[in-house]
Amino acid sequence: MYKINDNYLKLQGNYLFSTIAKNVNAYKDSNPEANIIRLGIGDVTRPLVPSIIEALHKAVDEMGTPEGFRGYGPEQGYDFLRNAIAKQDYQARGCNIEADEIFISDGSKCDVGNIQEIFALNNKVAICDPVYPVYVDSNVMAGRTGAFHPVTGGYDNLIYMPCLKDNGFIPELPKEVPDLIYLCFPNNPTGMTITKPQLQEWVDYANKNGSIILYDAAYEAYITEPDLPHSIYECEGARTCAIEMHSFSKNAGFTGLRLGYMVIPKELVSNGVTLHSLWNRRHGTKYNGAPYIVQRAGEAVYSERGKAELKEQVNYYLNNAKIIKEGLLDAGYEVYGGVNAPYIWLKVPNEKTSWEFFDTLLHEVQVVGTPGVGFGAHGEGYFRLTAFGTYENTKEALNRIKNL
Ligand code: PLP
Repeated sequence: MYKINDNYLKLQGNYLFSTIAKNVNAYKDSNPEANIIRLGIGDVTRPLVPSIIEALHKAVDEMGTPEGFRGYGPEQGYDFLRNAIAKQDYQARGCNIEADEIFISDGSKCDVGNIQEIFALNNKVAICDPVYPVYVDSNVMAGRTGAFHPVTGGYDNLIYMPCLKDNGFIPELPKEVPDLIYLCFPNNPTGMTITKPQLQEWVDYANKNGSIILYDAAYEAYITEPDLPHSIYECEGARTCAIEMHSFSKNAGFTGLRLGYMVIPKELVSNGVTLHSLWNRRHGTKYNGAPYIVQRAGEAVYSERGKAELKEQVNYYLNNAKIIKEGLLDAGYEVYGGVNAPYIWLKVPNEKTSWEFFDTLLHEVQVVGTPGVGFGAHGEGYFRLTAFGTYENTKEALNRIKNL
């Protein structure tokens, strides 16, 4: 009789967003007229900008000609895109990253979930709490967790780093040294970000202890304040301790198109083996490359016109973030994030739990957000709203919340 991978049975409950969807659908079934505004899931709402649409059309036409047709491409991605990324996301910022250290993928979630495969099962893993659930769940599925403790809601092999009001939502360096450290700034879900000196401390800590930082920079485009790091490679020594992951979803609206990339510097070596060679092997074995058409659309993100159009689009969402933040502050809420990120992290009032507050918002004002506890035990008592709605819906949602 076949056996299943019973690590999957250790996953905590349903995936957060399916639970939210179930609750919202149940409410909708009994209130079919309700005008529900969704500020929960981090999906974007603006259409793709014209320069990207043009690049897509052009690539589609090319594929219909004998000269322009492309079949399997290089698994690591086309040079035109890897070069544009290396030049504009890194070298222009003074970071020493080469095009062949960049692996193109069909989105960051796969990279974030798959990267743990090249590390041994007995590595200790540090994660922030609250956290983007994929870091934890992918390690649980792999069996890199040890026993589960129902009382603490934690696993033996995971080192939880609380991100709270008291530490400005920036994790403290753990006393028990981890092997793998997941960091994400600007942060999902708290919307807070890290300064360069603070990130440098993490890089120094990782280099001193032989740890690897898995740095998720999905929201880098939302940084508005000067002197904040857009990449971990702005820190000295990051090439010997950090892998960085990027998405095209939130800076360019590719949540449906799908494109991402991962940077693995060639200096990352364990027992004489480079992580670059391991990931190259893994990528080439299990992945056949992101679609040519989508990579051409990704190239347009780096064109002068594309950059101008996308700046406007990001500003649109940042303006929503401002509306949410200021609206909540006016209404007397305690609010974090929303300045360098599309997420607003609010303290749930009146000692309610975050799921109770979810129900209040859904049932009383038909606004959907995300309960903080869904991101980890230390997210209890908080709630996440996203700035990815339309301007009109965001304004309307805030008016409703103010009248609660
Ligand atoms: N990393 C973080 C922190 C995210 O919030 C998300 C998406 O919401 C991703 C990665 C995944 O992005 P993608 O759409 O590229 O898979």
